[in-house]
Amino acid sequence: MQSCHVAFAGNPNAGKTTLFNNVTGSRQHVGNYPGITVERKEGRLIHQETELNIVDLPGCYSLTAYTQEELVARQVLVEERPELVVNVVDATKLERHLYLTIQFMELGAPILLALNMMDDVRNKGMSIDLKKLAKGMGCPVVGTVARSGEGKPELLDRIIEAAEDQSTWQPLQISYGPDIDPVLETLITAIEQHQFLTQRYPSRWLAIKYLEDDEQIIEQGRKENPSIADELNSIVENLRDHCAKTLNSFPEAIIADYRYGFIHSLLKRGIVTYPEDVERMDLTDNLDKVLTHKVFGPALMMILLYLMFQITFTLGDYPLQALEFLFSWLGRTVGGWLPDGGYLQSLVVSGVIDGVGGVLSFVPLIVIMFIMIAFLEDCGYMARVAYMMDKIFRTFGLHGSSVMPFIISGGIAGGCAVPGVMAARTLRSPREKLATILTAPFMPCGAKIPVFLLLIGAFFAEYRPLIMFGITLTAWAMALLVARLLRSTLIRGESTPFVMELPPYRWPTLQGILIHTWERTWEYIKKAGTVILAISILLWLAMTFPRPDHTQTESFNLQRSQLQQQLRHANTTEQVAQLEGQLTEISRRQSLEALKSSAAGQLGKMLEPISSWAGFNWRTNIALIGGVAAKEVIVSTLGTAYSLGEVDSDEPTSLIDRIAKDNDWNRISAISAILFVLLYAPCFVTIVVMARETSWRWACFALFFNTAIAFGLATLVYQTGLRLF
Ligand code: GDP
Ligand code: MG
Repeated sequence: MQSCHVAFAGNPNAGKTTLFNNVTGSRQHVGNYPGITVERKEGRLIHQETELNIVDLPGCYSLTAYTQEELVARQVLVEERPELVVNVVDATKLERHLYLTIQFMELGAPILLALNMMDDVRNKGMSIDLKKLAKGMGCPVVGTVARSGEGKPELLDRIIEAAEDQSTWQPLQISYGPDIDPVLETLITAIEQHQFLTQRYPSRWLAIKYLEDDEQIIEQGRKENPSIADELNSIVENLRDHCAKTLNSFPEAIIADYRYGFIHSLLKRGIVTYPEDVERMDLTDNLDKVLTHKVFGPALMMILLYLMFQITFTLGDYPLQALEFLFSWLGRTVGGWLPDGGYLQSLVVSGVIDGVGGVLSFVPLIVIMFIMIAFLEDCGYMARVAYMMDKIFRTFGLHGSSVMPFIISGGIAGGCAVPGVMAARTLRSPREKLATILTAPFMPCGAKIPVFLLLIGAFFAEYRPLIMFGITLTAWAMALLVARLLRSTLIRGESTPFVMELPPYRWPTLQGILIHTWERTWEYIKKAGTVILAISILLWLAMTFPRPDHTQTESFNLQRSQLQQQLRHANTTEQVAQLEGQLTEISRRQSLEALKSSAAGQLGKMLEPISSWAGFNWRTNIALIGGVAAKEVIVSTLGTAYSLGEVDSDEPTSLIDRIAKDNDWNRISAISAILFVLLYAPCFVTIVVMARETSWRWACFALFFNTAIAFGLATLVYQTGLRLF
């Protein structure tokens, strides 16, 4: 069977991923927000006996190496030389999107234009003459609506046709006017004479990149042949001077002007017709008048976020309670089948069911929260949040685009710092990117939420939405303050301006929302079943061994048998009740002593003199140490620690009740623990990703720095609280 390598490329938010999912049947993340796809994604399908290997590229505005996405996209094109580039463009923004098309053509890639969002074109009353456009651009054009699948059969047929055409890479040449063209020729001659990098790039394209001051190409050139690189650079410098003096402009700007001019003159030939009443404002403009209003905008944003928590808790409470009940019932039932008092019973009930159950109980809440986030993301509101936040962010040394990494990390509670840190790739300035990556893990990610829910449930049940909202605000405040601190000390440097296109408001598709929610929830469940299960078992081992010494066990057994003897001779019901109470107390003390003598218990105890400054007892310490592996482990470990330290009572008690009744916990220590969990070391996976995106040095820095900040703050709050209340 024939096979063919095809790349889907285009501007951000043109619908590439939607089209890719539709064509290949994959389920990649789609979002009404630029910068969602940051890595190449692959898929395949068979059409007309041809195997199509399709790669979905991150969106980009140009092919100059300004951002990570542009680099990724360019690398795939240059190095893999796909047989066809399907350039997905938003047909309502034809003029702007064709700018990238021109650059693909200058690189010489065989192009098929997929004019997407034809439904929007129709709704706006515009019309586009596809035949004329195809003739003008010199490439096949297909109209599509990626969301509904309209145009898909034709697109596939055309892809096969274009691929069979075996047209070789043929760079488009356009004129850049009297100032640039002669210099371009000089550069091309020099490049061709020395075969400078020409095995990888077309010579004219290389020359243009030199004129556009493309860092990556210039760097490559320097390595390839320093003397020619110098020669080219000095030619470019001369032109730069000339442009600055005579035209008050830069070569990049002039090149861009000529590209737009080329597109403009093409479209003028009756390709696009607009409706008569061009003045008509569309829905997006009207909505934005209110939603991004100077005063109402931020106010509405706060109300919306607050409502989101309110809804989550109101709706999520019933399934949460049901699941908690289910797991404690399951623990008792399964425990009953297994030999009483043995290791197996303890492992299964305390290690596995209490541990993993504690994590899974929160799935319903998380699902509801994710559905709402997915809705806000898909309808286009999130991009407005970024836009509104930019001014504030700037004062803290960050960038409007830092908002998305923050939000994905859990800025609207429930994200995950792993994709959050990766989303920082959309930031252009390395310093802003670093500051964003270092502070994104402060956000309340989905794994921290159950810890908060647990503590809030135990001590502030009546104020749940309010406190969750407060936690979120604290996270943002801390992220911003720490970013400011870092940007004025370790990572000093200029800020870059905000450029982001605000996508139009769109009604999200049910499928899109379900994919989002499912992806995130499934990640959570999968972790509960794998990493967390493994860590739960390891921690159970650490919490069970070594056993307490023999004499202690003997003394407990002796006391127990004495009481049992007395019980046999008891006459009144009061006596019986009292003796039974004493028996339970002894078993409770015994298991507590056992936990204390275990490895984890000893470590927790060892840290207690210090951790008690912030109000953490040794059981909490065990959980917090486990939490560095994965934050979900905190709840499961507390579940295990508190169930090991307790004896079966007839009532099924939930972890919330156990903590609420524990003397070491109170409202002040709960707040201090919430702060600590919110801010301390990123989890293991996040640290690995941070290292990959920056360096191990910065990842280790985050580990210690964040823990220090968290502990300092928790101590401050706890000590102040103790003195005030
Ligand atoms: P990408 O950034 O190019 O990968 O774009 P996405 O595939 O993530 O889509 C961006 C947004 O456009 C999402 O909200 C999609 O639901 C929406 N979208 C994609 N294709 C169409 C289309 O043909 N018509 C309309 N109305 N919306 C679309
Ligand atoms: Mg995409």
